[in-house]
Amino acid sequence: MIANDERVVLVDTGFRAETGLRRGRAMLRCPIDSLSLCGFDVRQVRDVILTHLHYDHAGNMGRFDAAHFHLQRREIEFVTSAMMSSTNPNLGGSVEASDIHTLLDLIFAGRVNILDGYATLAPGIELQRIGGHTPGQQLVRVRTARGWVVLANDTCHYEKNLADRHPVSAFVDLREMIAGFDTIMRLADGDMSRIIPGHDPIVMRRFPSPRPSLNDIVVRVDLPPLHIAP
Ligand SMILES: [Zn+2]
Repeated sequence: MIANDERVVLVDTGFRAETGLRRGRAMLRCPIDSLSLCGFDVRQVRDVILTHLHYDHAGNMGRFDAAHFHLQRREIEFVTSAMMSSTNPNLGGSVEASDIHTLLDLIFAGRVNILDGYATLAPGIELQRIGGHTPGQQLVRVRTARGWVVLANDTCHYEKNLADRHPVSAFVDLREMIAGFDTIMRLADGDMSRIIPGHDPIVMRRFPSPRPSLNDIVVRVDLPPLHIAP
């Protein structure tokens, strides 16, 4: 979630409970229902950035009646290609057909902003295609009080992917993924503490919670880290 006095922007929409059940992933907390924990209503969300269209990032699109969606052209082309007939987790195996049906309905409704490479969504919110993990994977760069913060998402699942230049286990293009690591570092001004990996539990320990009742549920990555792990 990215928010200031003017706008509320959501980055990715998580997976749906029924999808998780079928794929053996328990839903501990619905991310959309949890917006209210942070004082937001889904109707306030006018912009949703989809970093890519894997099922764990692109469920629940239908719950945002007031929103426009922002994603890369190459991601849309990928999830509507013959590659989706493969159950390999790098290809169709990580994409839910019903999510793509929802996306196509949104495109026909004129509610999808289709991007090519770099884009500025609003002052201080930049999108950059990185590729590698999926063809149209994009990261989000946000200007905060502590400087630029890069929501790296699945361009690096874990911090060690980036630190060790070790590729994420799922990818469609290794060359793009490896080259992307350098781009991520550059966009974060070389400061690892400003890079938020997509699946790394260290994020929940490193950054402060907005209030004690939200401990282990919500953290503010716009604030300085509590500590830097070795
Ligand atoms: Zn992914």
